[in-house]
Amino acid sequence: MKAPSPSTSASPDDWIARSLRAVWHPCTQMKHHERVPLVPVARGQGAWLYDRAGNRYLDAISSWWVNLFGHANPRINAALKEQLDTLEHAMLAGCTHEPAIELAERLGALTNNTLGHAFFASDGASAVEIALKMSFHAWRNRGLADKQEFVCLANSYHGETIGALGVTDVALFKDAYDPLIRHAHVVQSPDPRTAAQNETAADAARRALAHVRALFESRAARIAALIVEPLVQCAAGMAMHHASYLAGLRALCDQYGVHLIADEIAVGCGRTGTFFACEQANVWPDFLCLSKGISGGYLPLSIVLSRDEIYELFYHDDTTRGFLHSHSYTGNPLACRAALATLDLFASDNVLAVNAQKSAKLKAALAPLAGHDQVRDLRQCGTIFAFDAVIDNVQHAKTFSRRFFENALERELLLRPIGTTVYLMPPYILDDEELALLALRTRDTFEATLAETR
Ligand SMILES: *Cc1c(COP(=O)(O)O)cnc(C)c1O
Repeated sequence: MKAPSPSTSASPDDWIARSLRAVWHPCTQMKHHERVPLVPVARGQGAWLYDRAGNRYLDAISSWWVNLFGHANPRINAALKEQLDTLEHAMLAGCTHEPAIELAERLGALTNNTLGHAFFASDGASAVEIALKMSFHAWRNRGLADKQEFVCLANSYHGETIGALGVTDVALFKDAYDPLIRHAHVVQSPDPRTAAQNETAADAARRALAHVRALFESRAARIAALIVEPLVQCAAGMAMHHASYLAGLRALCDQYGVHLIADEIAVGCGRTGTFFACEQANVWPDFLCLSKGISGGYLPLSIVLSRDEIYELFYHDDTTRGFLHSHSYTGNPLACRAALATLDLFASDNVLAVNAQKSAKLKAALAPLAGHDQVRDLRQCGTIFAFDAVIDNVQHAKTFSRRFFENALERELLLRPIGTTVYLMPPYILDDEELALLALRTRDTFEATLAETR
């Protein structure tokens, strides 16, 4: 079937037909929508999205991991309304404003002022580009312009602009653009699922670190930075690793003179149980990228935090030694205000401790899955839960994610597996009833999807 032609008229009420004619949806083979529905979202409230017919869906993946405190959160809404009446935007070159200053100060304080300088952008991929450019430029300003190479982990995901794809190792997103990409060195992932039998997560971490050491030994003079998703490689399918891996990376980067970039775009803001995932290894990187949850899922915002020593390498009479990168919406006051309101919620509601209790309940409710003969590696890190579905038929494995998505919608859940990895990344506001419903219906959805493959 050909793509629907733009000239065919659709009723103004038919959002799905109109969307499929005019909107090019992200991360989507549009032809799949001949079979798979689009959800026409009319409004959101708390953990729920409501479609035009009034059906509700529990947003169990926080709308691509961004919506930490639910939809239409009253306190974030109030902060934004006030900001809207004060200052909606001002450029951040040559000007400054309170939301950007306060956000930079508060994020720096959360790193014990180790990462004392905040550079703003609008999305995660841009933050990664900025960290890569800053790392290279910092070495260049130190007279080490040969350090031009980067290192990423097997199965890493750092965004989909051309530079970010260079440090991404997901074939599905990367292969088509291969001729355009400047490839990074790819080191082993510390994902214990790849480990030999009887190897612990700590063993897998040690083995992966030995691989980094071998690369640094031969190549460090040319390497500017290593980039890592601390604790959980999310887009790879929620691959979780031992915190000792991060501590080991920090030591190797120090020993061999390589910057460490922590991409906390997905795992930051409390996702893994601490505000920053790096805290669990007791280390700070040289650059830390934040986006996704930082604005509570309200507005596009990303931030690169960097060490003062790095910042000082750019501080000079010579303009070109400065970091001249910019985006039009750099430091947008509304986005910064949404982030400040999000940080306020963390401060006032004891969020990390409450999340630990909620996660324990969800873990208990999902536990029966561990004994299922088509479930492998049921795992958890903070508020991230995942398991791998064992589907032997290749064709069924390929369509598993789309079928699961549809079956979940029928059970009032918004869930979108990555391949055959089912994961939950719920907002932090679920009550006991919602936690129970989520666990039960996830199990139901799984059974219904398996039934279609028999
Ligand atoms: C989502 C994500 C990105 C890219 O962020 P965008 O805002 O989608 O560009 C980068 N790194 C990680 C770890 C992510 O999860």
